Amino acid sequence: MLTTDPYDDDKLREECGVFGIWGADTAAAVVALGLHALQHRGQEAAGITSYDRNWFHSHRAVGHVAGNFDEDHIIRQLPGDAACGHVRYSTTGESGLRNVQPLYAELSSGGFAVAHNGNISNARTLRQELVQHGSIFQSTSDTETIIHLVATSSFKTLLDSFIDALKQLEGAYSLVCITPEGMIGCRDPLGIRPLVMGKLGDAVIFASESVAFDVVGAEFIREVEPGELIVVNDKGIRSLHPFAKIAPRPCIFEHVYFSRPDSIVDGQSVYSVRKQIGAELAIENPVEADLVIPVPDSGTPAAIGYAQQSGIPFELGIIRSHYVGRTFIQPGDKVRHLGVKLKHNANQALIEGKRVILVDDSIVRGTTSTKIVEMMRDAGATEVHMRIASPPTRNSCFYGVDTPKREKLLAAQYDVTGMQDYIKADSLAFISIDGLYRALGETGRSNDHPQRCDACFTGDYPTTLTDQDGLANVTQFPLLAERVT
Ligand code: AMP
Repeated sequence: MLTTDPYDDDKLREECGVFGIWGADTAAAVVALGLHALQHRGQEAAGITSYDRNWFHSHRAVGHVAGNFDEDHIIRQLPGDAACGHVRYSTTGESGLRNVQPLYAELSSGGFAVAHNGNISNARTLRQELVQHGSIFQSTSDTETIIHLVATSSFKTLLDSFIDALKQLEGAYSLVCITPEGMIGCRDPLGIRPLVMGKLGDAVIFASESVAFDVVGAEFIREVEPGELIVVNDKGIRSLHPFAKIAPRPCIFEHVYFSRPDSIVDGQSVYSVRKQIGAELAIENPVEADLVIPVPDSGTPAAIGYAQQSGIPFELGIIRSHYVGRTFIQPGDKVRHLGVKLKHNANQALIEGKRVILVDDSIVRGTTSTKIVEMMRDAGATEVHMRIASPPTRNSCFYGVDTPKREKLLAAQYDVTGMQDYIKADSLAFISIDGLYRALGETGRSNDHPQRCDACFTGDYPTTLTDQDGLANVTQFPLLAERVT
């Protein structure tokens, strides 16, 4: 019923995708298609809010886009030529409908719908202050903080109030909002999470990844710049830069795992970058073997790169069932364990008697690697070498990629030798941080001015972490929240 701290959850961070369109007939139908293409960014819930120039209409549901946004819902219940939508992965106990986005509120300026990808790292602190001043929160989502800040801003216009709100935020946010004054797309000053702008006829679109444009037949225009706020309405497109300019730090993990390989992120093809990561990995960590085997699907491009660089044949030694979601994107350890077994099966006829190199994008808790190494041995592999297309993940992400608490990360518990013993591989090696940057076209990581947010690997967080820093002082969060399941 009642819990103590709405933000105190092992898996508090959200992984999300956003999509918005202004100026298209049956806008909600286009949003549904766009969200479909972004489904990999969050599979627990989806929502669409449309605007018909008089009223806002919303449908939010737990589950996949496909199951919840059929023609009937979209066309009949979500009319209008403007709409925004959201796919989300959320946390145990907090996956209830009230947290499903877009969030919507009636402000003095009219309706306001917001879809957010990222995580506000001072949301708890802001919320505490807002509640003390009388705000009544309806969800436990950090995104709601933004709405309250806009609502309580002393600025007169919606846009000024919105900018005022953004200036109080710390952390990562790529936002798409629908308001009577237009659609707003914006990215935090560091540009941690991606956001791109496209065109479908005369309509303008914002989406988390360019793959969503391909799917709806839209044209990619450009990225929304870090710290940029774009207002789209019937008068046209207006770009604002309300923040002091700082060096951007887009998330490196989007390239490692999160984005779809057919997306262009930070101006680079995710697929090409991943292949290049595999090539660098092969240069840095060669090993004699008979086969290079990807852990599907996320390890596949890096495995191709590894195989091409090393000259060792690439083979599909693990077959993945496509009817199970991403391992990680399921709450609860029990389900996650079960998920791994359901998801992958060894191609025994190929593996038997072979020395194999397994390539995966990352090790988080170590569940997948442990299972897959064992699976290879059961299938008769004589040697199992694991190669990981990212450095050890030693730190939690507070910017919108779901990672468990630090103590659950395998790399926070063991060094590489300890991890190798844990997963029972004959060898284990990770790409170096400089190797990863090289794959992205840099000469290496600039330690003075890191080009990316790589805090999950380095612990170098590009913002202060107000909520985390304040945690030691909080014995019990004063806000009680009803837990909706
Ligand atoms: P684990 O089994 O806990 O070590 O998780 C590693 C697997 O989860 C890898 O195969 C990755 O492809 C995948 N993965 C890594 N990071 C994430 C994430 N943030 N969300 C979902 N899956 C992830």
